[in-house]
Amino acid sequence: MSSALETLRSGFGGDIIEPGAAEYEAASRTILGAGTPAFVLRPTSVEGVQAGVKFAVAAGLSLAVRGGGHSFPGFGTNDDGVVIDLSKLATVEIIDKDRHLVRIGGGAVWGQVAAALAPHNLAISSGDNKAVGVGGLTLTGGIGWKVRKYGLALDNLVAVELVTADGEVARVTKESNAELFWALRGGGGNFGIVTAFEFAAHPTTDIFFGRITFPAAELPTVLQGWADYLRTAPDDLTSSVTFANPFTGGPNAPVEVLVAFDGDDAELAAAAVDPIRQLGTVLEDDVVLKPYADILEEGMVPPPGIQIVTRSGFVNEASVPEVLQMLAAAGASERPPIVAIRSIGGAVSRIADDATAYAHRQAELMFFTTIVGPPPAIAAAQPGHDALWGSLAPHLSGAYANFLAGVSEEDVAAVYPSATYQRLAAVKRQYDPANLFAGNHNVRP
Ligand SMILES: Cc1cc2nc3c(=O)[nH]c(=O)nc-3n(C[C@H](O)[C@H](O)[C@H](O)COP(=O)(O)OP(=O)(O)OC[C@H]3O[C@@H](n4cnc5c(N)ncnc54)[C@H](O)[C@@H]3O)c2cc1C
Repeated sequence: MSSALETLRSGFGGDIIEPGAAEYEAASRTILGAGTPAFVLRPTSVEGVQAGVKFAVAAGLSLAVRGGGHSFPGFGTNDDGVVIDLSKLATVEIIDKDRHLVRIGGGAVWGQVAAALAPHNLAISSGDNKAVGVGGLTLTGGIGWKVRKYGLALDNLVAVELVTADGEVARVTKESNAELFWALRGGGGNFGIVTAFEFAAHPTTDIFFGRITFPAAELPTVLQGWADYLRTAPDDLTSSVTFANPFTGGPNAPVEVLVAFDGDDAELAAAAVDPIRQLGTVLEDDVVLKPYADILEEGMVPPPGIQIVTRSGFVNEASVPEVLQMLAAAGASERPPIVAIRSIGGAVSRIADDATAYAHRQAELMFFTTIVGPPPAIAAAQPGHDALWGSLAPHLSGAYANFLAGVSEEDVAAVYPSATYQRLAAVKRQYDPANLFAGNHNVRP
């Protein structure tokens, strides 16, 4: 270990943070994960990432990789191992103006990307939050406010620069290595550390965005009408529904429908959004034209001692009515989880199922439920939450890795159907046979 550490220290060029250092405590946590790593490394270059990987291997330590630090299971930290925190690799560069190609450092967050692209009237469909990392979100999906028009974040990826378990670096594209590029688009952090992502961004105008709310008593009809409408709505419209939010009334909280219409034509926007307004008694409607970068929410760190448990599911068309009825009943129960449902379909469903390792293209909806609070509140809510998921299970077609706090084999099987898993495992055997990159929804070599 000491010679490995000496090698690392000679010319690493970034921070090497160990227990006892002033910044250790902050550096060892992510927003939802606590850890006690032996080393937190903050490389400033690709060579630094390579040195960090080689150090972890030589020292025989486990490795965690951190992009934006927002994973629900807290993958971005560990105990007694090495954390490679990519936050200093966060540049956003337009590398081809005509093709809108953008190169983004592996540790950038989506707020940095949206702000850098806004002056060029460009955007990348990503997520809803500025503080979420490009890395974690993209490598397992990326369901954002333009998902129905431009697909998942990973559908807009054209190349990655990857440091593999042997410490080597390569630019991976469909042409250079089709199988590894397939695996990287959905297989999460299983195959190495992405030091740069190259995306094809899309031109954007300001977009119509806002919240339309309905009384809690209208939840079942609003939900079903919303899902039916989204099935045939223009791809320019992406929408989500949230209910049972404890901060606005729990079971009595208004039903919040968020809409994002990708365009600045007021008439077209009204035509797309009005059918949603007609679903029930509108309490509040603040849909207005905004810059795309302004619709992303600011990041928020939960206060100390607050836990968050999130589970996710995909729903195919045939199961939509049953699942929505069950979620509406859960939302009206005495101690409901927060429920958020996102429309997918559109561009996502028009890409071949096996084109990437994201295996849930035919799902119409992705939803997640969240229980939040101090440990006693979580313990009290957990049995009801588990029972809800027990009854939902037969109606679901899988789970979305990005909103999944569980890491059991069952969870991994819900993320990766058997054929996808087997294909990923073959790539894993080639690029990470010792499973160095295990801090994720893990594909075993
Ligand atoms: C408030 C909030 C809002 C969210 N909103 C959305 C949303 O709108 N849409 C959506 O799809 N998801 C959303 N998510 C889920 C989000 O996509 C996941 O939590 C994702 O894992 C976060 O990525 P990160 O880089 O911030 O996380 P991290 O914890 O840093 O990374 C998680 C794991 O991803 C891998 N990883 C990250 N970066 C790299 C890299 N450069 N190279 C290799 N591996 C890497 C590693 O395995 C790492 O351990 C949200 C999450 C939160 C907490």
